[in-house]
Amino acid sequence: MSGRKISIAIVGGGIAGLALAAGLKKKENISFHIYESVPEYKDVGAGLALHMNAIKAMTLIGPEVRQAYFTKAMEMGEEDKEMSTEVILAHGPNQGEMVAELGKAKGRKTVSRADLLDGLLDLVPKECVSFNKRLEKIEENEDGVRITFKDGTDARADCMIGADGIHSATRSYILGPDHPATEPKNHDGWQIYRTMVTSEFAAQHINPKWTKTVPILLGPRGHINCIPLNKGTRLSAGVAVRGVNFSSETGKAPDLDPELYKDYSEDAQKIVRLVARDTSASWTAADHDHAPVYFKGRVAMMGDAAHASMPFAGNGAAQALEDAAVLDYLFSKVMKVEQIGAAFSAYDQTRRPRSQAVVDLARKFGRVYAYAEEGMHEDPAKMKQFLGGAAAFTNNADLQRQNDDAMGLFEAATGQGKEGGEGGVAPEGVEVV
Ligand SMILES: Cc1cc2nc3c(=O)[nH]c(=O)nc-3n(C[C@H](O)[C@H](O)[C@H](O)COP(=O)(O)OP(=O)(O)OC[C@H]3O[C@@H](n4cnc5c(N)ncnc54)[C@H](O)[C@@H]3O)c2cc1C
Repeated sequence: MSGRKISIAIVGGGIAGLALAAGLKKKENISFHIYESVPEYKDVGAGLALHMNAIKAMTLIGPEVRQAYFTKAMEMGEEDKEMSTEVILAHGPNQGEMVAELGKAKGRKTVSRADLLDGLLDLVPKECVSFNKRLEKIEENEDGVRITFKDGTDARADCMIGADGIHSATRSYILGPDHPATEPKNHDGWQIYRTMVTSEFAAQHINPKWTKTVPILLGPRGHINCIPLNKGTRLSAGVAVRGVNFSSETGKAPDLDPELYKDYSEDAQKIVRLVARDTSASWTAADHDHAPVYFKGRVAMMGDAAHASMPFAGNGAAQALEDAAVLDYLFSKVMKVEQIGAAFSAYDQTRRPRSQAVVDLARKFGRVYAYAEEGMHEDPAKMKQFLGGAAAFTNNADLQRQNDDAMGLFEAATGQGKEGGEGGVAPEGVEVV
């Protein structure tokens, strides 16, 4: 070790930034500071259901990170009842056929984003986090990275990791503001119409079964789903519609029209009518086209900043946590500033292919659910095969091996473990922009 700690500026205190910080705080060779733009966390979205790979990634960072999730997470339904996600064709000749039953388990959990962030924040020393700090400018020189915030203040560090979400300023710096993959896009014109109601109210309007288990009801004008929250007392119900005509003047989506769902199953139509009563929780989805690289010099990006995906595979936060696990592991071995480039390169090579595969997968889920993937909805067996394979790809990954692969690349580049290793050189064949 060169005698002083490696300093890291983490920009964005979301799931990715906080999970990484929770790991880094245990490393004697590292100091860090998180800069978060909002003054406090507000709850957005319907609640997260973290898949097995997310739990594995949290465990790799530390059992306390995993515990922070389990302490905050709520059972979706009643504790002693098994709950699964039932994917059912709600339209066409195979209407009513279940094509997948995913994640069947007792005590399946969801967590509100704000609760999860509070739990992770408790693991990070208070003096290492600053709120109300919106990154505006990044500059690099031989001394490291200087970042400037909207309030005119600045900070310096040996390197910077941008965990600043889908509209990332870090991404714009790394790829360039005019790069075609910098801005998020809504390629297929997705609008997510959503409502939040009490389960009691919902049970008066829809099949009560769907207040206790998760349906995804498929058809060509949108897929319909319900997520029980808070031990089954609240329900988030939604219709995800592909190919919406957004107003050229206001950019807004048209109102949800239940008349368009007359040829869907009765169950599906009832949920659409429930959602159409109050669509104030609706939002427009977008994702990132693939970035050619996740770092430039001493600046890297992670989580949604690097690979925002459509919500249909339910794995965005899980991928952010996988990034955090790999970066955390790599930085345990970074002892000199000259080795930062090799760590970022190893992270980029290891995480970019898998995280971008999940972006593609989430898009494909959307097309399959909307009957827009040729040959699928006509052939339920084929759809079953796709859904089973996708779940295995996201959930069953060997994340210890992913960490080890990244470390192998880092050690090969820095010669660590061998006499005289210097580091900082990207492995052969890696394009560093
Ligand atoms: C409705 C919905 C449901 C979802 N469900 C699931 C699910 O069930 N399972 C799952 O795995 N994933 C799910 N996701 C995806 C998941 O929420 C994201 O992938 C995850 O939150 C990404 O974490 P992140 O930390 O990278 O980004 P974010 O959570 O977006 O955090 C980024 C942080 O950076 C801050 N920031 C932004 N710009 C700046 C700046 N310039 N300077 C400083 N700070 C800045 C923001 O304020 C924010 O706190 C869902 C997403 C949505 C929208």
